[in-house]
Amino acid sequence: MANHEKMWQELGLDVELHNELLKSIDRTFQQTVGAQKNRPEGMKYFDNVLHESHGGRVAELLDVKAKGNKVIGTFCIYVPDEIAMAVDITPIALCGGTNFSVPYAEKMFPRDICPLVKSTLGLAFSKTCPYAPIKNMAVGETTCDAKKKTWEILAGKVNFHVMEVPQKKEEPDIKLWHKEVREFKDKVEGLAGKKVESKRLAETIEIMNDKRRALQKLNELRKHDPPPISGLDALVVMQAALNDEPVRFTETLNQLNDELEERIEKGISPFTKGVKRIMIAGCPAVMGNWKVHWLVETSGAAIVGDETCTGSRYFENLVDETAKDLVGQLSALAERYMKINCACFTPNTDRIEGVVKKAKESNVQGVVQYILQYCHGYNVEAIRVDGALKQANIPSLKIETDYSEEDVGPLRTRVEAFLERLG
Ligand code: SF4
Ligand code: SF4
Repeated sequence: MANHEKMWQELGLDVELHNELLKSIDRTFQQTVGAQKNRPEGMKYFDNVLHESHGGRVAELLDVKAKGNKVIGTFCIYVPDEIAMAVDITPIALCGGTNFSVPYAEKMFPRDICPLVKSTLGLAFSKTCPYAPIKNMAVGETTCDAKKKTWEILAGKVNFHVMEVPQKKEEPDIKLWHKEVREFKDKVEGLAGKKVESKRLAETIEIMNDKRRALQKLNELRKHDPPPISGLDALVVMQAALNDEPVRFTETLNQLNDELEERIEKGISPFTKGVKRIMIAGCPAVMGNWKVHWLVETSGAAIVGDETCTGSRYFENLVDETAKDLVGQLSALAERYMKINCACFTPNTDRIEGVVKKAKESNVQGVVQYILQYCHGYNVEAIRVDGALKQANIPSLKIETDYSEEDVGPLRTRVEAFLERLG
């Protein structure tokens, strides 16, 4: 990493603090992901994506800019990357998963907002986020109050575009979302200084669908007993998906999937057959955050599915590739993204039914509802999710936590008691 110091200096980062941040993330990584046994060979690539997220990937984005192209930062999986990519803009996810930066946000923001928002802001405020000075525009959305109000503050400081994600899925809401998608197209066209062409958009739709197909395949392979890969490693792959160049990512994930098929044939797994199978449902666990997956899997179970934005919400539902003109393609994109079931929607019956369906498909014995502290949407919705799971005879445990290590002891006791209850 040392060879990137000049780059970080030129980006205006606080290099000393940034080194401390990297050390802190690496320590957490080694204690959790790195401490696992019997990992697939192919995971080396994805580990490296995470390690290079502040180094090699930043250098790549600087190359993108040197060629005259633009970079946008995003905070949510509702932003249709395909449209930005069609005008040679590189989208990059900016959500923070480290506790290290949280105190820097708490100097200005209330403590009682979700750690994902605080971590992201803290990275920018403490001058330890290399993407903050690189991005030409940030794109926020209206999914939760913490984010929505934060954008108002950031909008005065950086080039900011907000997409209005409706809160219902009825006809007027769908119309609004289609309009938002078209406006996003206008916005990125203005930023790039070029028009979205239907031919190029068809290509970027295919690139992103290929990525989703590879992630769907990984999800299928995890259904095997025992799964050929840990839930923690599958999470690392997902976290890499939000940062890496998509074509390269897909190629490498397809190779990993091949390796996992071989492992299934040869009976190689980090777990033994009959291991207790758990699905995670709820909030995303972005790069730097491995806490709950690590806790569950070091308590004797395997995580075999994730109903989260770092899981199925990111890769389920493909964009219809049959639309050939721009109007049809934008509609197809709006339709696909509108199918994401974030807890910001009401009523959110599709999500609740989806959790039960996915739990059955992955043949799990229990569901851990993972709620980031102060995320009211997922926290309150957990009651209905729990009720639907009960009706299907699937036990669930709700864990509400932040990014700190303070509650690891009590959480482990609860997870172990839950797993014991599964028989
Ligand atoms: S949980 Fe909701 S707001 Fe957060 S990334 Fe997912 S869709 Fe976006
Ligand atoms: S986890 Fe919940 S509170 Fe946090 S940013 Fe996402 S939707 Fe908002």
